[in-house]
Amino acid sequence: MTTDALEILRTTFGYPAFRGLQAEIIDTLAAGGDALVLMPTGGGKSLCYQVPALLRPGTAIVVSPLIALMQDQVAALVQNGVNAAALNSSLPAAAARALEERFLAGELDLLYVAPERLMTPRFQELLGRVEIALFAIDEAHCVSQWGHDFRPEYLQLSVLHERFPAVPRIALTATADEPTRRDIIERLGLAEARLFISGFDRPNIRYRIVQKRNARDQLLRFLEAEHRGDAGIVYCLSRKRVEETAAWLREQGRDALPYHAGLPAETRAAHQARFINEEGVVMVATIAFGMGIDKPNVRFVAHLDLPRSVEAYYQETGRAGRDGLPADAWMAYGLQDVITLRQILASSEADDFHKRIERQRLEAMLGLCELTTCRRQALLRYFGETLAEPCGNCDTCLEPVATWDATEAARMALSCVYRSGQRFGVSHLVDILTGKDNERVREFGHQRLSTFGIGRALSATQWRSVFRQLVARGLLAVDPEGYGGLRLTEACRPLLRGDENLELRRDPERQSRKSAARRG
Ligand code: ADP
Ligand code: ZN
Repeated sequence: MTTDALEILRTTFGYPAFRGLQAEIIDTLAAGGDALVLMPTGGGKSLCYQVPALLRPGTAIVVSPLIALMQDQVAALVQNGVNAAALNSSLPAAAARALEERFLAGELDLLYVAPERLMTPRFQELLGRVEIALFAIDEAHCVSQWGHDFRPEYLQLSVLHERFPAVPRIALTATADEPTRRDIIERLGLAEARLFISGFDRPNIRYRIVQKRNARDQLLRFLEAEHRGDAGIVYCLSRKRVEETAAWLREQGRDALPYHAGLPAETRAAHQARFINEEGVVMVATIAFGMGIDKPNVRFVAHLDLPRSVEAYYQETGRAGRDGLPADAWMAYGLQDVITLRQILASSEADDFHKRIERQRLEAMLGLCELTTCRRQALLRYFGETLAEPCGNCDTCLEPVATWDATEAARMALSCVYRSGQRFGVSHLVDILTGKDNERVREFGHQRLSTFGIGRALSATQWRSVFRQLVARGLLAVDPEGYGGLRLTEACRPLLRGDENLELRRDPERQSRKSAARRG
């Protein structure tokens, strides 16, 4: 079987060999089996159904929600001499009828159809009269409400299998988190399908997540030390921060440009063009920047703010090092990130279901930040792929993280939150613990609390690290009103009762001393 597939790959598509799991997937389909394929964008999903479409008798039906992509693919196939066509709403009635005729005559190898078109009675009737090679369901995550691309029409696609149980199906997506995967399997009836996950690892990207102190300075030091004259992207959460950071980097002599949705279209286009065509431009951007940007020699992607999900982090960092040469994914992350994102979430208009989803996504992202083991292993695990050994090319591999028994410290912190009434923010709580006798402490009479000054053994920085990790682990919750007040959660009970111990990351002190020396 594979020799035929290889023959098609070479003669029709002009490639010498299959990549990754392509050959196995193609064999599965050619033999009549179902497949669920999870591969990142650019991983080579299309060939997984295009080759079997040519191997099997009949016409392959490809369901795709994106008309523009459909047209690109069809054009490329036709250029390679494949009989492919697309049926969608952009086609005039007469042309659609002519296409139906070709389909009925069995002249097509592949027919791309928009999901809403596929489910019309007219098209369903046509399907019954033609030999079908396979059904390919592209962008399969559209069936899941977990995704941001939910399409109700996709829910009806399970009908295909009920009507044509003998026709093999392949569902494909780049969105591979566990809940989405479960939805796809359940809603498309793919429990029997073979699961193929591959290609998510980007071994040339070095992942690093550092503790945020003075993010700008840290960024500049990172750029000076490792990326003088390199092109890269710096992601920030807000437009304001994009503007400020870009202006500041320019003052420091870097060729930095801002990019966000609030800039005039001409400015955005001009900045994007400079980034792509010139060397050494640093694009400071919101997430509005990046879709469809294919610059191979982006040497670094830096995050000054925490992305909302592991998926977003993976996608954004994935813009680095497309040329396969060493590249950096660098992020500064701190307590305020956790607080801000928790607040944005709590105050969002979304319904409870979507809030819960967003919260779980954020938890996973925080988990990645606070990790003490290999980041790449965790990242790939999130996508369902396994990496047997620690990667050796992430910060936790290169500099193993020390942990410490923070049980006592955590109890002090939690007790301080409780005794001060569960409404104060971190700075004030740290002042109480370290025994700062300042105006605000006096105003609330907190110098009389039993927790006043009990934490003098740790520095303010260390206490902030403790609070950050307690919030990140969900032992403390942030009040949604905007002042960053902290309160206890159910999850901290075992610790307070003494049933549980807590190991925390020991954040490196080194950098802070260095920057302190610089300031002094
Ligand atoms: P996806 O749909 O997963 O985003 P594509 O199917 O568009 O990815 O493939 C991405 C690119 O990789 C395309 O340019 C494609 O031609 C190329 N490609 C895919 N498989 C192979 C292969 N076996 N050998 C060489 N190039 C390949
Ligand atoms: Zn690693």
